[in-house]
Amino acid sequence: HIIHVCGSTGCVSSDSQAVLAAFEKEVKFLGLEDKVLVKQVGCMGLCAAGPVVSIKPDNLLYKTVKVEDVPQILRALLKGEAVEELRIDTNQPFFTRQHKVTLENSGVINPEKIEDYILHDGYKALLQVITAMSPQGVIDEIKKSGLRGRGGGGFPTGNKWQIVHDAPGGLKYVICNADEGDPGAFMDRSIIESDPHAVLEGMAIAAYAVGASRGFVYVRAEYPLAVKRLRTAIRQAERAGFLGENIHGSGFSFSVEIRLGAGAFVCGEETALISSIEGERGMPRPRPPYPAISGLDGKPTLINNVETYANVPAIIRNGGEWFASIGTEKSKGTKVFALTGKIANTGLVEVPMGITLREIIFDIGGGVPNGHRFKAVQTGGPSGGCIPEELLDTPVDYENLTRLGSIMGSGGMIVIDDTSDIVSVARYFMEFSMDESCGKCVPCRIGTVKIYHILNKFLEGNATEADLEQMEALCEMMQTTSLCGLGKSAPNPVLSSLKYFRHEYLSKIRRSE
Ligand code: SF4
Repeated sequence: HIIHVCGSTGCVSSDSQAVLAAFEKEVKFLGLEDKVLVKQVGCMGLCAAGPVVSIKPDNLLYKTVKVEDVPQILRALLKGEAVEELRIDTNQPFFTRQHKVTLENSGVINPEKIEDYILHDGYKALLQVITAMSPQGVIDEIKKSGLRGRGGGGFPTGNKWQIVHDAPGGLKYVICNADEGDPGAFMDRSIIESDPHAVLEGMAIAAYAVGASRGFVYVRAEYPLAVKRLRTAIRQAERAGFLGENIHGSGFSFSVEIRLGAGAFVCGEETALISSIEGERGMPRPRPPYPAISGLDGKPTLINNVETYANVPAIIRNGGEWFASIGTEKSKGTKVFALTGKIANTGLVEVPMGITLREIIFDIGGGVPNGHRFKAVQTGGPSGGCIPEELLDTPVDYENLTRLGSIMGSGGMIVIDDTSDIVSVARYFMEFSMDESCGKCVPCRIGTVKIYHILNKFLEGNATEADLEQMEALCEMMQTTSLCGLGKSAPNPVLSSLKYFRHEYLSKIRRSE
């Protein structure tokens, strides 16, 4: 039997490390070392039910396991039985409706052991690429897969790689954007904590394809466990010859360093991120020039997000066509979402593109708990928008969510129920954007503050029709004149809630006597 204990932040915060130690101690005490292997693994998805423990091949999954439950679980296991009161049904849609590509190793391998990654085909794709494929051949395979940027923009990954590949210049860089700052989003953190080598392998393949020799992972300092696992993974990959000089005798060299972000949301914007790595204040710059042509230190720079890189090894191993067979016509593959808010199964899920929002929220997510009614779902965090119940049958892809006034974003999905006031939700996101605005351009610096104050007037019952008109005009002004994505998209939560829940705003307008 192999006992998997979740070692990701969600479960660690509910003391899974003590549970892991208790299993190891008890197995030793009972002299079961040759029969039972205890292993720390990454996220298994059901974060709210942590600490989560799974036992293979017995197909047992336990929730909220405490140290005192360990002897009972082991006793039952030896008798071929289960501890029913802790058991999670693995036949429920939360597990059966998911499709794991990016998260194929999450909850399966020990993220702190490169041997375990290699046992699960790790670094096979990199070796295949550097020994048997040309850089252009790799780019063509990524183009064939239809992979698009998972950080939210949805730009075709193969095209981006092609631009960097074609850009003149000896020195090029590859950057992994792990500056996940949206409230309610934890996809990138979980991927790094659960499978850090997949991200490094994806970066190395990208570096080979575009002709880069140095890479950076820009990760937020608020993710200490992800940073620790990434450091360990880089050290292990260097020792095993998958990173560094002349990788496995191929003549290809690639090194990776970590840069810590200090918690500014705007540093997720690629030009601000580059400024931060350069040691400057993290502020966006006008584009063009795009980083693919002139990025870090003015050199051609490829920037992709964590999830995008994590998809690359599986695409190379299985072929671009295989990846393209999953998803919709324009959005291929799968997407990882973090389900939070008023939803029964808070956690991390991976689904094929094209699945409906209703399936994600009600089948996989288990719907709204405590007998409340679903009101809206906010996708894309402060840059996204809310989507009401009548549009839940929309298949999830980049174009559809944009058409609805929201965005795919990096994958945060916050469910709002009938106990929440939609204007308060819009104010929450506007306050976030106001705090995080870097202040470089006027429309965003002033616009966020003005809109925030008008939203406050609505909540205090002091707003007038003129305030509503002014707020809409400010939103439009911000969208069209802000310098970077933060300012351009900050009005989305307000505009989408006005579109679908206008009556809630109107009901708060002060009527003259
Ligand atoms: Fe800074 Fe906002 Fe302007 Fe972006 S839009 S540059 S965050 S002030």
